[in-house]
Amino acid sequence: MRYLSADRIFNGKEFLDPNSVLVFDDNGLFVEGVDISAVKNSQLEHHKGVITPGFVNSHCHLELSHMLNMIPQKTGFLDFAKNIMSRRNSVSIEQMIEAAKQGDIHMQQNGIVAVGDISNINITFDVKKQSKIFYHTFVELLGLDPSKSVSMIYYGVSLLNELKNLGLAGSLAPHAPYSCSVQLIKAIADHNAKNNLPTSIHNQESEEENKFLRGEKSDFDELYKFLQLDISWFKPKFKSGLDAYIKELNAGINILVHNTFSSEDDLRSVHSNVFWCLCPSANLYIEDTLPNYDQLLKNTQQICFGTDSLASNSDLTIVKEAGIFYSKTNKLELSLKGLTYNGAKALGLEDRFGSFIKGKNTGCNLITDDKKDLTLIKVLC
Ligand SMILES: [Zn+2]
Repeated sequence: MRYLSADRIFNGKEFLDPNSVLVFDDNGLFVEGVDISAVKNSQLEHHKGVITPGFVNSHCHLELSHMLNMIPQKTGFLDFAKNIMSRRNSVSIEQMIEAAKQGDIHMQQNGIVAVGDISNINITFDVKKQSKIFYHTFVELLGLDPSKSVSMIYYGVSLLNELKNLGLAGSLAPHAPYSCSVQLIKAIADHNAKNNLPTSIHNQESEEENKFLRGEKSDFDELYKFLQLDISWFKPKFKSGLDAYIKELNAGINILVHNTFSSEDDLRSVHSNVFWCLCPSANLYIEDTLPNYDQLLKNTQQICFGTDSLASNSDLTIVKEAGIFYSKTNKLELSLKGLTYNGAKALGLEDRFGSFIKGKNTGCNLITDDKKDLTLIKVLC
């Protein structure tokens, strides 16, 4: 048995009484929380810093791990998207798998116990199967042409079946409103709701996305030209990128990722099961902009964090993402909740991760709390 105490203990939702001690068995399973008076001095393992449950990375793309340092920073979304498309297949499959393995190990070493990971193809499935991390894979689908919806869903379900055969969790995910028809988004949301699974979508990552969905001239005209796709038939007239699809999302769990250019109206337009996943490093890498956190927090506390991929981030340390949010907002409890309980809830995993749950190996991390930043000191169990 291990009896862990620290300057402060955060249980995923709130700070515990200062006299609390967490008891874990030798396999790292959480046994119970007790008062310090019930523990012999010689048994107590006291740490300087803050103890938290294992972290949840709510948005990652493990299959892009080979793209570290491949794409120039701060050049805007159009350049970034063109670079992703032209360079993602520039190395061998073996190199991609090796990079994904390293990314997975890096996340384990950085206290991450569960990940919501986007996959377009199956190359990372074996890495996920071998990993100690719990992966919920979002099989991501694209298709602006509504007539392609049915075939895309078939493709997605075939990948879901592959995951199932490997004993891995997964659901379908539309990529973004500028790359998916409303019909495809609705079909995916319905499929996930029927199976009680979360849906994830990239939301308002650039202002150009809002312009494109309003039917205004935007960088996406050039992107589709670059892809040699004629979209002259596409005549959207929405109020924003989010307005294009929000009615199609059902009351199941939905994770909106990025939200860099979401307006007050957008924030108010969603139903209560929406989680706003923040990926500040990626926003700074691509657009050199962060969401308006004050505006966000006026409307919701349902935030969680994602690293995005190594194509748009220097590493996959999720605590760094929460640290950026914390340094801008000074909201310590919410930063830690986004890193743990909210992340787990967004993935539908709150019974297994995100807090200290009896009989479960939910992870236990020690972090600094030095007023300006959050850093992992070590993984305790
Ligand atoms: Zn992403």
